[in-house]
Amino acid sequence: MSWTDKELGMDRSITRRDFMNGAAMAIAAAITPHSGLLAQAVPGPQDRPGYDPPAAHGLRGSHPGAFEVAHQLRDGTFWTHAGQPESTGESYDLVVVGGGISGLSSARFFHATAGKTARVLILENHDDFGGHAKRNEFQVDKTFMLGYGGTYSIESPAVYSPVAKGVVRDLGIDVASYPRHNNAQLYPSLGLKDKIFFDKETFGADRLVVSPSPRHGAKRWQEFAAQAPLSDKAKADLKRLLSCDEDLMPGLSSSQKKAKLARMSYADYLTKLVKVDPQVVAMLDPEPKPLYGVGIDAVSAQDAWGLDMPGFDGLKLAPGAGPGMGRDANRSEEAEKYFFHFPDGNSSIARLMVRSLVPEAVPGHSADDIVTSQIRYDQLDQPGKPTLIRLNSTVVRVRHDGDPATAKEVEITYVRQGRLYTVKAAHCILACWHPVIPYLTNELPKAQIAALRSAEKVPLVYTNVALKNWKSFVQLQTSGVSAPGCYFTEFGLDHRVSIGNYRCTTKPEEPIVLTMARYPCQPGLPARAQHRAGRANLYATSFETFERNIREQLARSMGAGGLDPAQDIAAITVNRWPHGYAYQYNSLWDPFWLEGGPLPCVEARKPFGRIAIANADADAYAYTDCAINQAYRAVNDLKVAAS
Ligand SMILES: Cc1cc2nc3c(=O)[nH]c(=O)nc-3n(C[C@H](O)[C@H](O)[C@H](O)COP(=O)(O)OP(=O)(O)OC[C@H]3O[C@@H](n4cnc5c(N)ncnc54)[C@H](O)[C@@H]3O)c2cc1C
Repeated sequence: MSWTDKELGMDRSITRRDFMNGAAMAIAAAITPHSGLLAQAVPGPQDRPGYDPPAAHGLRGSHPGAFEVAHQLRDGTFWTHAGQPESTGESYDLVVVGGGISGLSSARFFHATAGKTARVLILENHDDFGGHAKRNEFQVDKTFMLGYGGTYSIESPAVYSPVAKGVVRDLGIDVASYPRHNNAQLYPSLGLKDKIFFDKETFGADRLVVSPSPRHGAKRWQEFAAQAPLSDKAKADLKRLLSCDEDLMPGLSSSQKKAKLARMSYADYLTKLVKVDPQVVAMLDPEPKPLYGVGIDAVSAQDAWGLDMPGFDGLKLAPGAGPGMGRDANRSEEAEKYFFHFPDGNSSIARLMVRSLVPEAVPGHSADDIVTSQIRYDQLDQPGKPTLIRLNSTVVRVRHDGDPATAKEVEITYVRQGRLYTVKAAHCILACWHPVIPYLTNELPKAQIAALRSAEKVPLVYTNVALKNWKSFVQLQTSGVSAPGCYFTEFGLDHRVSIGNYRCTTKPEEPIVLTMARYPCQPGLPARAQHRAGRANLYATSFETFERNIREQLARSMGAGGLDPAQDIAAITVNRWPHGYAYQYNSLWDPFWLEGGPLPCVEARKPFGRIAIANADADAYAYTDCAINQAYRAVNDLKVAAS
């Protein structure tokens, strides 16, 4: 069955308001001659009344206006028409490039070392601070709702370091209190379970079926087997896989088995050793995508074992990672328990950090009231304050004033609203994405440039759909759906978290935010090439295409429960992240990780002169604690004298 635009509601008036139309689109414009005014004297978009990026819908994340200047730099076309920059006359103790968690942490650690009155400027190319830690707001009739536009929660497979835990504590977040805020029983009390949506193009029929998790026993399997549109052989193979107790590598020790598993993909393990039907491979393909951004063809079987994917029980592997196991696959019980999800994800962490740096901009006093605090963007970039956060500002060059070994200053050049400015600083921290850095400086050795470039960013999309109600989810008894063959490979209702004055909705007839995730990649290629292909795909995809896919997928998967996309969708925000996760090393593609050898991220993050390098990329690991740890290390690299 196919839907017409009208049936899907493509003509409906929903909130797709594109914030950028009136604000920072000017960034994308050609560089214009300077008026002679200093940058600080020229009010930026953030100083205008009503400036409120989280309330914008439409295409967000890497939004129009945020990336064009950087792409011109990449393509070598920027400087041909850039003209002469104008000095703003400003001079700082530190300029930070990038206003994500790592950039904000850098500013905090720098103040802790250099003193509260040290002067810090943060330059960020997006229209909001937080980097990946972004928030989406929705107003549906009288209901105010939050969603996470990127970073979802405090969580990490590895234990948070004492430094990162200290930051979380200093911000006032009581991680152990999470169960008090989260209504964990709501979905189970309504009988909602995880389900799989099999699509016609991949599996022959559109069907929503309960997940066949072995821990739910025989009844659940029977329910799954009765409904799933899989061949009898595929069902038999899946059953065999889920209870696999055969040793498929007889005669090898546990460590020899791990060594072999580290060198083969999970797809190959399933196909060549377990010998399952291709339908089973297709069904399991997206499992590692939320962590790695690629499917099972590009993730090792050893990682699949660490991630508890099926098929390994019979191997009787000794606990613990073998050489080359991915960091995500190496789970820790302590880390599992260290979890906290704000309704806007780790955007609340970014907002708390900004409150500590620029108190006037973020009213309130606690980690509870941060969720409903209304940011005063016009206070972020005020002269005379110890910390200034300048948004819509893409840094295009950083260079020492002379030989990096002896220079006393760094000059930082950036574009804001189509104009080119310079500021000076005693120190600079590059907390931006590593592949961008080689375009900003010509002061680095070749080996470091190569190392920075190897940090291939992982593309992904979190789409938030404001639904007028979620009765269809109750009707179809699900809160989370995996959709292996679909455009969005998973979608689900968020945890029901209420904090401070923020009350999440709990009744099925009330509005809710549904999150749909897409991990664009190109199976069959090495992981980095898959990410590059996915990134190109994301930049080439229009909002209209996203919207049509959202509507059609929901109609097909949830329509039987009464979800009518034409009636039920109130607003859509597509958070596209072509430069998403930090690349994590993978035994299939990174010999140094498997065999041992210098890690590119260690070479990449070396300081040069008065410039240090932070960001989660510096740890080759996409987690908030890494962004904080690397900021701490970068500030130490600067060797600033304590005041
Ligand atoms: C969709 C998504 C979900 C995630 N979920 C989680 C999660 O649940 N838990 C978790 O721990 N981690 C998660 N992460 C990982 C996340 O990347 C880290 O947790 C952390 O937020 C990274 O912070 P950062 O400051 O290192 O990088 P970023 O957040 O990427 O910040 C770097 C900033 O530098 C800016 N920048 C780049 N170039 C320039 C330039 N030339 N001039 C000015 N600014 C520039 C970028 O635009 C960006 O805003 C997620 C990431 C994504 C994309």
